Amino acid sequence: MTPIRLGHIRTRLTLSFVASLALVLLLYSLTASFFLLQDLRRQLVRHAIQDLETVEGLLHFNAQGRLMLRDDYHNHPESKQVLERLLEVRSASGEVLLRNDLLGRRSLGDTLLPREGEGGYSPREFTLADGLKVQLVSRRHAVDGRMTIIRVAFSETPLHSQFRSNFAALLLPLPLILILTGIGGYLLASRFLKPIQEIARQAEEITSDRLHERLAVNASDGELADLSRVFNTVLTRLEQSFERLKRFTSDASHELRTPLAVIRSVGEVGLQKESTAAGYRDIIGSMLEEVNKLTHLVDSLLTIARADAGQIRLNRSLISATEIVRSSVSLFEALLEEKDLRLRMEPGGDPTIFGDWLLIRQALVNIIDNAIKHTPAGGVITVRVREGDARLYLDVEDTGTGIPQNELNRVFDRFYRVEEGRSRESGGAGLGLSIAEWNVRVHGGRLTAHSQPGRGSVFTIDLPRAEPPPAQDAQERPLTARTSR
Ligand code: ADP
Repeated sequence: MTPIRLGHIRTRLTLSFVASLALVLLLYSLTASFFLLQDLRRQLVRHAIQDLETVEGLLHFNAQGRLMLRDDYHNHPESKQVLERLLEVRSASGEVLLRNDLLGRRSLGDTLLPREGEGGYSPREFTLADGLKVQLVSRRHAVDGRMTIIRVAFSETPLHSQFRSNFAALLLPLPLILILTGIGGYLLASRFLKPIQEIARQAEEITSDRLHERLAVNASDGELADLSRVFNTVLTRLEQSFERLKRFTSDASHELRTPLAVIRSVGEVGLQKESTAAGYRDIIGSMLEEVNKLTHLVDSLLTIARADAGQIRLNRSLISATEIVRSSVSLFEALLEEKDLRLRMEPGGDPTIFGDWLLIRQALVNIIDNAIKHTPAGGVITVRVREGDARLYLDVEDTGTGIPQNELNRVFDRFYRVEEGRSRESGGAGLGLSIAEWNVRVHGGRLTAHSQPGRGSVFTIDLPRAEPPPAQDAQERPLTARTSR
């Protein structure tokens, strides 16, 4: 059994349970004792009223005009009790006519209250000059034709001691009850928390190299089974991210190694034998070509890393579709001529996009670059602008090699190349389309491809057409879009 620690949930659960129970029982005992006290007070008043009636029958004025209790009160057993009460009789003007021995020189109220004892009994609480609390009942009564106010009072002292002993009797078993419920609560909490401990134990064993493992889901564990399921889902996502990251790192290293190896071997071969100035220029030229590829690759990797980290911010503005197509196409004029290709533009109206000029142009440039790379001399590349309802479409169509149907979806994956050898030769690392796809997706768009092997391909960027930009959207804001497919 695990040792009891204050920080443990089960200890805290038990302590709060015991504390709540103690509070409830304490409140219960207090309330019960208080009601008992009130009841005893009411009984005291009832007794006082009875005694007052007895006193009424015993009062008389003697020959000297002094108010007296009849001597024969001791013949009646209940009349005798009158002596055990506090008794005071006053005249209608408030003058003291009689006080019994128990009351002595103390007073049950120096002045008469307005209408005190009139038309019935007036009960009230009263504190004597010596601090004694009493329940007091007064009544007006005519003795031998003279109006008197009779006051009979009971001390509350026995009442308070009864209240205390009752309260103590209720509290007495409390420690035992609390200890027993504490033990019971702790055992119960331990039992209920056991599955959580088990989940924690299993989760602890799942290290980065065992991410394929899952927690056991026991349906009878109710909510805790849900917890295991959620944890398993998180593990699946974590495993996928880990896999992607591993693949990305190994692909990236592989891609970086190739141009570096070429640079080294070109350099080594160049050093091995004497050459002419033109020969050395050739060697340096080949090395620079590889350096360019390397620079391009590192740029792409950086773009992807920044996108993954959510560091790319959209700098949106209202963009004319025709203008952005023209700007992208203009970069390829020399290359088109060199490769003997024709590029046709088919503008269809001039819809606008509210987006980041650089990102959308980069997507277009990557797609046009691919079309040029994969279209043999004499071919035609068409860049078309089309308008839909609330969308606009940018098609890049070529008459090139095309892409086999079963590979069409994979061309958007990172580092994916259709014909590894040929594509590598053309300088690509298989990142161009995945970057283009991300750039389009963060604008709420889609990049799709259709192709017929041997006849050509069409890549279509589908974007929402510009709505008038709301003020805050025009500002830069960070992106957290998913970048992998
Ligand atoms: P890269 O940057 O190496 O060109 P991409 O991600 O842009 O890689 O493209 C992935 C693969 O898709 C390329 O290796 C290429 O084989 C194929 N591809 C892309 N565009 C075309 C196209 N227009 N015609 C034929 N194949 C294409």
